[in-house]
Amino acid sequence: MKDVLVLLKENNIKITDERRAILRVLQEAKLPLAPADLFLRLKPSMPKANLTTVYRNLEMLEDLGLVKRLGFNKNYFSYELIDGREHHHHIVCQSCGKVEDLENISEKFVSEIAKQTNFTIEDHNLEFFGLCVICQKEK
Ligand SMILES: [Zn+2]
Ligand SMILES: [Zn+2]
Repeated sequence: MKDVLVLLKENNIKITDERRAILRVLQEAKLPLAPADLFLRLKPSMPKANLTTVYRNLEMLEDLGLVKRLGFNKNYFSYELIDGREHHHHIVCQSCGKVEDLENISEKFVSEIAKQTNFTIEDHNLEFFGLCVICQKEK
């Protein structure tokens, strides 16, 4: 968390209580949060926060490379903290936009793809799409 605050300072970005609180909420959540969810979690410690500034602050934190925006749709997306996360993938609900982390997935396909293409694979992103348990029931 300290590095993050240093980075904000270096970019001449004021470390407002709200920005600090947003980073803390994301850090504590340990899962991707939609802006509205983040806002709800922020509310107890930041009663004056409003959703518009939360959106704006998240965009700013994304520009700084501190958070990553996940999701495929302009209406449904979530954010997660980049710092301190192990490599992982995501699964996205196409109905409600909920994003979950996929951890402990075999990475065997990486060497298979390298072999098939003769590329050296430096990095990859994977997002899976479907319907979450709640949205399956609503069908
Ligand atoms: Zn859903
Ligand atoms: Zn992977």
